[in-house]
Amino acid sequence: MKERPSFPARLDFSGSPVKSRAPLARVATVASPASKPAAPLLASGLGLDSSAVRLNMVKKLAAQGITDSGVLDAMRAIERHRFVDSALVGQAYEDTSLPIGLGQTISKPGVVSRMIELLRQGTSVKLGRVLEIGTGCGYQAAVLSQLAEEVYSIERLRGLHDKASDNLRHLHQANLHLLFGDGMLGYALGAPYAGIIAAAGGEAVPQAWIDQLAMGGRLVAPVSAGANSPGKQALVVIDKTPQGCKQTVLEAVHFVPLKSGLA
Ligand code: SAH
Repeated sequence: MKERPSFPARLDFSGSPVKSRAPLARVATVASPASKPAAPLLASGLGLDSSAVRLNMVKKLAAQGITDSGVLDAMRAIERHRFVDSALVGQAYEDTSLPIGLGQTISKPGVVSRMIELLRQGTSVKLGRVLEIGTGCGYQAAVLSQLAEEVYSIERLRGLHDKASDNLRHLHQANLHLLFGDGMLGYALGAPYAGIIAAAGGEAVPQAWIDQLAMGGRLVAPVSAGANSPGKQALVVIDKTPQGCKQTVLEAVHFVPLKSGLA
């Protein structure tokens, strides 16, 4: 990975730690026995068995350079078609972002696998606690739940928080906790986190995320490329070490904006 310290991610590691805030309004663990009916695969032309389509997607991800077998296995296990509206089921295994309502999108499989591979730092063991900012429809949270001991995923839009709860119910993952709240503040009650992953891009990485990252932990987030490149974002990796935080700037990406407050 190349280091570009000049990147204007506006990080300030010298500031005083952010005080923990009041608990978020609602924490829901996704382990209810009720299960959602399968999406209408036949009607969409996906066929009766989506596992072959998913295997094909995973082969493409490997060809694109994803080498972490844990990530590839999780991408193969999670049924992405369950996280999109029925009219879009036929495109669920294409490497494309798709609308999920309220102006938001489900991330591309290529980006989800790339970011989680980075988050795992090359280890094959499960991560400890992970915080995801931007649950959206819950797809990435589902993939993370296969690869981490505990996943806390925050969404600021009530409609999507509720949609993710419905979408994730069939997995019965007791280690996956959905939160309705402002992810800019992180989630202090679950800290420290072995990994923090953001699915929305802001002007800078909030100090709360750095404070809530465990020593030895890694944060992966899209960040605005700054005044010289308006509208552009890059993927940023931050490693928290006893010597300080090390920031690495990677490829250009395109994520929905990180916004504050609830809606
Ligand atoms: N993780 C999703 C991606 C959803 S898109 C997937 O699996 O595809 C990113 C999401 O981030 C949107 O739903 C948006 O509402 C949410 N978001 C933006 N700013 C946020 C904030 N401050 N706190 C929590 N969620 C936020």
